[in-house]
Amino acid sequence: MAKIQAIRGMNDLLPADSPVWQYFEGVVKGLLHSYGYQEIRMPIVEQTELFCRSIGEVTDIVEKEMYTFNDRNGDSLTLRPEGTASCVRAADQHGLLFNQTQRLWYAGPMFRHERPQKGRYRQFQQIGAECFGIATPDVDAELVILTAQLWEKLGISENVTLQINSLGSPEERAAFKKELCIYLEQHFDLLDEDSQRRLATNPLRILDTKSASTQSVLKGAPKLSEFLGEDSNSHFSSLLRLLDLAGVKYEINANLVRGLDYYSKTVFEWVTDALGAQGTVCAGGRYDGLVEQLGGKPTPGIGFAMGVERLVLLLEELNVVPSDVRSNVDVFVVASGEGTSEKAFETARVVREQCKLRVLQNLGGGSFKSQMKKADRSGASVALILGEQELERGQVVIKYLKLEKDQQTVEATDLSQVLTEFFA
Ligand code: ATP
Ligand code: MG
Repeated sequence: MAKIQAIRGMNDLLPADSPVWQYFEGVVKGLLHSYGYQEIRMPIVEQTELFCRSIGEVTDIVEKEMYTFNDRNGDSLTLRPEGTASCVRAADQHGLLFNQTQRLWYAGPMFRHERPQKGRYRQFQQIGAECFGIATPDVDAELVILTAQLWEKLGISENVTLQINSLGSPEERAAFKKELCIYLEQHFDLLDEDSQRRLATNPLRILDTKSASTQSVLKGAPKLSEFLGEDSNSHFSSLLRLLDLAGVKYEINANLVRGLDYYSKTVFEWVTDALGAQGTVCAGGRYDGLVEQLGGKPTPGIGFAMGVERLVLLLEELNVVPSDVRSNVDVFVVASGEGTSEKAFETARVVREQCKLRVLQNLGGGSFKSQMKKADRSGASVALILGEQELERGQVVIKYLKLEKDQQTVEATDLSQVLTEFFA
């Protein structure tokens, strides 16, 4: 019978790779907690309407990437393509936004029906953070500084750059959009097909076109920055000043518009050129109108999301994963001879509890030689050997598997202390 395979673009995370993911997630969560962000977990499925209303009807995500289906009641449901909309829905639904600030983070799978390739999948993992209730640019700065600090902790600062832009208020953007459309219509024939289509649906997205001919048309186009008013301008310049003070470098990219409709004022992306075409590893921005757009009270908000697969790829590519991350065992317990395997249970438990070490106990029997082979292959630094003689004398033999160091016989009662000192 033919074997059933996973769905294209939806990956299994295998044990050989999960330690790097855990390492990455641990660093991110530790940092988010150090800034006072608290975890929120939302369902993976939401009403389709939530994403249409927030992300925007004429965006790539809503037009062609969502996994939408009718459930048995006939309700239209969608596997979440991103986390911000769900997070806003949940925070508002549970009254978290009333007269208070909230710093929230989430992690989990997102679903988009895209063409699978390196760094682009149909189920992928994001870690995101959202802050509600603060309209001033200091929170924009805090979020960007947090991400910059993350790259430092991970050892990839040299390989990512920050692109940043201001989209202004919806009114300012509308005025710009009008002028941009007038200009682009005059040069319609020089635009690529995609941009010609977008001119009628979502003209701002034309700004991040990859087409060379459209790019050259854009050189003469009106600039969004010329349409920003006093409030947007001073917000943006305060943010840049705070980034300067923090020593965070950035490139202002006037064509950075982001693919979702809900952004206002600040938008940013961290990009790398070490991953080929899928170079954006973290992206975010301010969405002051979104809560209201989804039926809540007007509440400023800002957030970012990072693509875990891309960041893990980058860590591997740059070879910056600490060498001990991949090992999953410290101690291997070998028991050979009458009555020794019973003693091995106790020894393993004591070492786990008192030394806080990761212990693999040999199970399934086997000769002394084959057990020692397993110990070597396990990646453990130490084998504990229990033979009949040791059992009789209340001793344990410690064999060092990764060092040129003689094996050592210790009293069972001293074992925890010796191991604790060795692994310290
Ligand atoms: P891209 O321009 O690469 O399509 P995006 O603008 O659609 O990205 P966002 O919606 O901002 O992406 O999502 C935030 C991050 O999630 C991205 O920067 C990226 O790291 C990751 N991401 C987005 N789509 C995918 C995907 N299909 N597969 C893997 N990671 C993804
Ligand atoms: Mg995309």
